[in-house]
Amino acid sequence: MNKRQKIFVTAAIIIVLASVVATASYSNLQEEMEVDKLKIVATFYPLAFFAQQIGGEEVTVKQLIPDNTEVHNWQPAFADILAVDEADVIVYNGASLDHWFEDDILSIIDSSDKIIVETAEGLELLETETEHADEHEHEELYDPHTWISPFLAKQQAQKIYEALIQKDPTHMDYYTERWQTLQERFEELDNNYLSELSTKKKEKIFVTHSAFGYLADRYSFKQYGVIGISADEQPSASVYANLVQIMIKHETYMVYVDPVYPQESAQTLKNDLETLTDQNVQILKLYIMLGSIDGVDYFGQQEKNLENLKIGLEA
Ligand SMILES: [Zn+2]
Repeated sequence: MNKRQKIFVTAAIIIVLASVVATASYSNLQEEMEVDKLKIVATFYPLAFFAQQIGGEEVTVKQLIPDNTEVHNWQPAFADILAVDEADVIVYNGASLDHWFEDDILSIIDSSDKIIVETAEGLELLETETEHADEHEHEELYDPHTWISPFLAKQQAQKIYEALIQKDPTHMDYYTERWQTLQERFEELDNNYLSELSTKKKEKIFVTHSAFGYLADRYSFKQYGVIGISADEQPSASVYANLVQIMIKHETYMVYVDPVYPQESAQTLKNDLETLTDQNVQILKLYIMLGSIDGVDYFGQQEKNLENLKIGLEA
């Protein structure tokens, strides 16, 4: 090796070493930044969305149930249990929606270093009586679809905010400012619902899955569902016949369906009603807000729901 070659090899070694050191410190830095962030696990979309809105840059949010997946019968995988085990704050709905969280996850993880937030706890829940043919008894259930009402969703999000400032008080000002912005959005939405639906001429809506009880309760209308609150029932012909009679009696020719759920029952209702009347029956969207969809997030879906409810309720 001549002198020139030696210099070249030495320089090459230095460059390689320098880049190894640089890469190592860069990835350490990245790791440190991730470690610094508060780890939140939320069972499903609306709660993950609220947590991200409040937590911003200071948190990582993992959502267990994928966007726009049926929530009532979902089951966690082993990887989900591991993710929950590593979290600082765990957020679930409660009111029997994500009962698997309590049954299959909470019972086996070490929760001593975590804050666990049951966001529907303490809310005024609506009771629903459902008949279960296989159990030969009536079971009292609570309607779990609390997040669909902006009034209740605000209270659920507030519990998430309280958990964040408790677990990570260093960033209290940051979380508080973001929570205030979010709180104002809920309040504005609730006020819009109250004022814009106050002029309604109709008071019944017909839906495929009875998920809108808390909207109906707060904004004074009534929902009739093809299937009940748990979304896993098979409707009988008499259910359709009964609903069609109510729709004819109240001259309502509109059916609401969430795009995530099967559309068949809405179509059956439309066909049955059109066969019996000379009316053209419309099918409109009413989002259950289980994920970002049609290019809109939780609040965008809320606004579209209000628009569509104004059509059906003639407000
Ligand atoms: Zn549901």
